[in-house]
Amino acid sequence: MSLRVDVSPDSGSVRQSTERLRILSVLNDLHLKYHSLRDGRVADYIPQLAKVSPDLFGICIVTVDGHVFEVGDYDYLFTIQSISKPFVYGLALEDHGRDYVRTRVGVEPTGDAFNSIIKLDERSKRPHNPLVNAGAIAMTSIIKGTDPTDKLNRILDLFQRYTGHGIFADMSVFMSERTTGHRNRAIAHLMLNFGMIDGNVDEALDLYFQQCSLMVSCRDLAVMGATLANRGVNPLTGEQAITSEYARDILSVMFTCGLYDYAGEWAYRIGLPAKSGVGGGMLAVVPGRFGIGVFSPPLDERGNSVRAIKVCEEITEAFGAHIFDVAFAFGAIAPHPVKSPPPARSALLSETRNGHAASPQPESRPPA
Ligand code: GLN
Repeated sequence: MSLRVDVSPDSGSVRQSTERLRILSVLNDLHLKYHSLRDGRVADYIPQLAKVSPDLFGICIVTVDGHVFEVGDYDYLFTIQSISKPFVYGLALEDHGRDYVRTRVGVEPTGDAFNSIIKLDERSKRPHNPLVNAGAIAMTSIIKGTDPTDKLNRILDLFQRYTGHGIFADMSVFMSERTTGHRNRAIAHLMLNFGMIDGNVDEALDLYFQQCSLMVSCRDLAVMGATLANRGVNPLTGEQAITSEYARDILSVMFTCGLYDYAGEWAYRIGLPAKSGVGGGMLAVVPGRFGIGVFSPPLDERGNSVRAIKVCEEITEAFGAHIFDVAFAFGAIAPHPVKSPPPARSALLSETRNGHAASPQPESRPPA
């Protein structure tokens, strides 16, 4: 079955109720199809993560005009882990600007695992990109703040802008990683040696472990993805979570580096900026159209959720979402006119129901 949704290039609007039903039917079919898939293993290198059920499975799509579609365990809370990295990279960009941030981290994919120790750029000693652990810890270490609490609060505020609600860390996962994260400690000390970490290395590591322990649902991930898809404006609250120029930077590194040593294969098959986390989350972005959040804890050998990869691959097919498909579909030489999206109603989230499209009547919305 191949379903498409007609989405106008300049607004990404999902106008028809039949389109909304189609999206929901695709998500329901995917949930049904992959729920019984038993491949992969739940992460156990952070001991606390091993306790989660492999059966949990949720999928959510949020469009740039604020429609929410969700199935399964869409509001189950799990730790964000590496999916936090691109967002903290965006905060570092806002704190320091591109030029300075580029002295601390590159934008080159490594083709290595997320926790690779060996790769720092030969000449500059920079980590290759902000989505491998080395680059992410370097970014966390330069977040501005008067003290560790202030820095944590700024990160919490950041995720509040992206998700539209208050967010907290799971202390047991934080402590679990803090006491067993020897590899990340080694990475951080190596960078300290090369002058790539600012300030106290233990404080930087604590902040990194805390950002990885933030609790999100796959609906949150989809809202965050929709915010990036929407030039940095959260479509449910109308709040600007990140400037559009840095949203573009984030999407660029997610496209080339988001899936680590699977990034090339992902770009080829799924063709979307995305980020995975060892908590089982996956966030993908269809620029100008929608954000995708998937949660399913069993991971492949590279640390990416097995069911989430399958789901994203099928969503790409069903909605013609591979970014090069989209480029051909639009078929124009001139760029699309830049247009600010209208602020959307924040009431949407509370209207959502398991397995039901939660969206306002089209006529109740401001014109796209
Ligand atoms: N907190 C994890 C770590 O640093 C994040 C890894 C991940 O999600 N890929 O090891």
